[in-house]
Amino acid sequence: MAGKRIYLDWNATAPLLNEAREAMLAALAMPGNPSSVHSEGRAARALVEKARRQVASLVGAETQHVVFTSTATEAANLALSPRYRMGRSPLSLTRLYVSAIEHPAVRLGGRFAAEAITEIAVTPQGQVDLAALEALLAAHPADAGLPLVAVMLANNETGIVQPIAEIARLVHGKGGLLVVDAVQAAGRIPVNIAALDADFLMISAHKLGGPKGAGALIARGETLMPEPLIRGGGQEKGHRGGTENLAGIAGFGAACEIAEKQLIERNFRIAALREKLEEGMRKAAPDVIIHGAEVDRIANTTFFSLPGLKAETGQIAFDLEGVALSAGAACSSGKVGQSHVLTAMGRDAALGGLRLSLGPETTEEDIDHALAAFARIAARRRVTGHAA
Ligand code: PLP
Repeated sequence: MAGKRIYLDWNATAPLLNEAREAMLAALAMPGNPSSVHSEGRAARALVEKARRQVASLVGAETQHVVFTSTATEAANLALSPRYRMGRSPLSLTRLYVSAIEHPAVRLGGRFAAEAITEIAVTPQGQVDLAALEALLAAHPADAGLPLVAVMLANNETGIVQPIAEIARLVHGKGGLLVVDAVQAAGRIPVNIAALDADFLMISAHKLGGPKGAGALIARGETLMPEPLIRGGGQEKGHRGGTENLAGIAGFGAACEIAEKQLIERNFRIAALREKLEEGMRKAAPDVIIHGAEVDRIANTTFFSLPGLKAETGQIAFDLEGVALSAGAACSSGKVGQSHVLTAMGRDAALGGLRLSLGPETTEEDIDHALAAFARIAARRRVTGHAA
């Protein structure tokens, strides 16, 4: 076993797909600027537009409604703006409502002042509390401009899928706008902007096997757009200035194409592996708590707590066993904080949770290895009260 590493942290980032690497290398070899009119420029432009079609297709959007950004975090900061334009007319959005389980990219509220942000509670099962959202929207002052609501499609810690279509019905019933963070859902469940009835989606290349540092904001239509976050030379139809990250965008497009083609097959296999994983965990430690097991989840994520094992201790213990996983809120700069998701669900945030997330390259042997590690760590915890 010595030296063998098992990567089960696909929600943090996915290894680069070969197809994405090849598309990136081809793009790096191109000399032109996509904004130039000569043939080198037009060749680079063609790559950007190909990737735009590939990204749009993955989420059922119109190609011209995709705005490339540096990351999904940037896309969130672009969308979460109190200032929009409807065609040529300015539109003011005075209050932002975000679910209590959003990723910090959304939870911090983009360009809204802290006092203009209201949190939407979630149920103990980890789904947005529709009655709470309805009450907040009913209390939204009619003369205060339209409400902007941001809810993720799948949570990065638990994998729990949110009832976006119902949320959209409530938000649109009040004339509001709905921004959906589809970063963890894209490539794992079918994502279609029209079926979700979302006004905007964000996705990120590196969660799909594309490169880190490429993302997109995808709009439902083209008349209603937020004021740009980055102004410059008019790229991305003026919605995002700056010369395009050609290689990043090309790799992003290639990864989206593969994710779309392999969606069903990949996730069917991953779901079977997760079932084996969770069954094995329950057998080795019947007191394991698997968060969200009773509701709809993306197929690759297992977020669990083990009584007697603090998440940060567990993370190190698994790492020593050769298993890369995350403690709940470990996604920012390596620090382990308390999981705001567990807190929002009313669970034991001091104990914390550990996240195993699988990907298309995860094998049955990886799961066996992770289960053996789990059993050893769980047994040790019983003797000492914590994993050594
Ligand atoms: N939203 C969710 C749900 C995420 O999991 C992440 C990344 O961890 C982001 C947004 C941010 O994406 P990016 O790394 O492209 O900024």
